[in-house]
Amino acid sequence: MDSMPQVRGIIFDMDGTLVDSRLDFDAMRHEMGLPTGIPILEGLASIPDGAERDRMLDVMHRHELRGADESVPFEGVLDFLSHVNDAGISTAVLTRNSRESTERTLKRWGLSFSQIVTREDAPPKPDPAGVRLIAERWGLPVHQIIVIGDYLFDLQAGKRAGMRCVLFAPNEIPTYAREADFILRDFREAVKLLVKLATGDE
Ligand SMILES: [Mg+2]
Repeated sequence: MDSMPQVRGIIFDMDGTLVDSRLDFDAMRHEMGLPTGIPILEGLASIPDGAERDRMLDVMHRHELRGADESVPFEGVLDFLSHVNDAGISTAVLTRNSRESTERTLKRWGLSFSQIVTREDAPPKPDPAGVRLIAERWGLPVHQIIVIGDYLFDLQAGKRAGMRCVLFAPNEIPTYAREADFILRDFREAVKLLVKLATGDE
C-alpha cells in the first residue's frame, strides 16, 4: 500500500463552485454587446484596444465586484475546506475572474488558499496553464491533485493536465458531466468523495 495519501492538492473553481456569486453571464454579455453564448473572456479577446473595449471591461468589472459582494458559499463548503486543511491537503483557487474580485470574495468569507491564480496570472481555463502552474508551485505530481469545478472549462483544464476532475452539479446534471471523473451534488458529501478518491474505490 502506498502510505502517501493520493489526494494531496485540490484546485477549486470559485464562482459556482465555492460560492454562488449570482453572476448573470447573459446580462453581462448583453451589456457588453457580445453575442449570446460566447464565453466572455474569449469574446473580449477579439475586441481591439480602444474606448469600446474599455467600456466592456468596465461592465465586466462592475458585475464581478457586485458578484463578490453578493457571494454566498455553497452549503458544506466551509466545513469541507476546514476538513481538508486539517488533513494537510493543499488548496488552491483557479478562476477566470479578476484578482480584485477574487480576493474580495475570499476575504468576505475569510477563506485562504495556498495558491490563488486568476486571469491576470495565466491564460484562462480551459487552457491547462493555470492548473499546471499550481501543480508546479506545489511540487506535486498531477495524479495527486484533483480539480473541482462546476463548468466544462474546469474539467477540460484539469483533464488536459492529466488530473482527476470532479464536477460540482448542485442542480441539474449538465451534458458535459460525461467529461468528469466524479460528480458531486452537495459539498456535505465531499469528504466521502475524497475518501473514495484517496483509496481508489470506485
Ligand atoms: Mg464556475
